Amino acid sequence: MGDDSTYDVAVIGAGVFGAWTAYQLERSSKRVILIDAYGSGNSRSSSGDESRIIRMGYGADEIYTRSALRSLQLWQELFTRVDQPLFHQTGVLWLAQKGDPYPVKTAETLRKLDVPFDSLTVAEIRRRYPQIGLERISWALLEPESGVLMARRAVQTVTREAIRNGVEYFQDAVKTPEGSGSLNEITTAGGRRISAGNYVFACGPWLPKVFPDLLADRIQTTRQEVFYFGAPAGNRSFLATELPTWIDFKDEAYGLPDLEGRGVKIAIDRHGPAFDPDAGNRVVSDEGLTEARQCLARRLPALKYAPVIEARVCQYENTANGDFLIDRHPRFDNVWLVGGGSGHGFKHGPVVGEYVATRIAGNNEEIEPRFSLESKASEQKRAVF
Ligand SMILES: Cc1cc2nc3c(=O)[nH]c(=O)nc-3n(C[C@H](O)[C@H](O)[C@H](O)COP(=O)(O)OP(=O)(O)OC[C@H]3O[C@@H](n4cnc5c(N)ncnc54)[C@H](O)[C@@H]3O)c2cc1C
Repeated sequence: MGDDSTYDVAVIGAGVFGAWTAYQLERSSKRVILIDAYGSGNSRSSSGDESRIIRMGYGADEIYTRSALRSLQLWQELFTRVDQPLFHQTGVLWLAQKGDPYPVKTAETLRKLDVPFDSLTVAEIRRRYPQIGLERISWALLEPESGVLMARRAVQTVTREAIRNGVEYFQDAVKTPEGSGSLNEITTAGGRRISAGNYVFACGPWLPKVFPDLLADRIQTTRQEVFYFGAPAGNRSFLATELPTWIDFKDEAYGLPDLEGRGVKIAIDRHGPAFDPDAGNRVVSDEGLTEARQCLARRLPALKYAPVIEARVCQYENTANGDFLIDRHPRFDNVWLVGGGSGHGFKHGPVVGEYVATRIAGNNEEIEPRFSLESKASEQKRAVF
């Protein structure tokens, strides 16, 4: 099938970065086509899980705190407009271990940017949240206005709204572009050819597969397991009214309360082994479950033997230090690479979309050095969480 249509921008990938980019481009009056290989918010995509945390705390990384603040506002505006309650204001509780500088730096940044938070002593945490185990915890920082985005439905909502506003959308896999200079067209596995002024490749964990020579060493795709546990019938202690989302930063674990009856979510934030997003095995491992149970026993001891009611294997797409990649392809002046969410990108979708749309509009906006391709090393040294 051929296609004669010409677009201002073709966005490849309708995960959270691509969907918001298409949405924001359309709002700036661009003619946009959005293409996804498996469908927006599909189960293989990094955006396709049930839920994602949106928190303002980022240690000393003010750039991400500012972005999270603006993004929360834009998410909420969208959800209000479409009348979908896809943000749960659970609060986010950082459980801080003695001598850990990250929560201390987070508090300094939040104070500087006037983001509301509470510092809680161990006695205060115990009084408010008796269901949380406090082994090795010496204080906590509570972000009362932060919470959880219902990820898959949220990203599908962005795509649906983009389409409703005029973005054209279809499902197909775009092939690796060839040549150099100004890219004239892209082709799909289904045989379609699409011509656009600019092309945005927002392919998440697939970016290293689409651009292997450029990104195979710069974005590492890792296997991450997620478990949902069921609380006993009638026990309300693990609902969002009683339990906040919590982050055990030092022990690389986090948990979400039982939202919409899906169960109490637990995951380990440490990078797993290399993973193929198309064909990788998405059945969770016994070792993963053992570690999740150890975490439960430590932090939510009443759920130590709770049944797993759902489990997922997802993947991170990690740059060396965790900074996003948003830059032009060095061989094509009209191709953008947008990804490297590195296990924390979901919340920032609205701002990433704005950032890309502004640069494509050509207002001579600078590239943030931290998002540049040049800054992306091949050796993993995580610094942004
Ligand atoms: C377990 C886990 C927990 C996380 N927790 C959080 C959290 O609490 N808070 C947070 O903010 N972030 C979190 N993240 C990170 C966040 O989910 C990701 O950074 C974000 O979803 C990445 O979005 P994306 O659009 O870049 O990629 P994706 O969502 O993977 O989207 C890429 C899309 O591109 C499509 N595609 C790929 N190749 C092609 C092609 N050739 N042609 C057409 N389409 C193509 C795919 O089908 C896919 O839909 C977590 C991630 C994981 C895995």
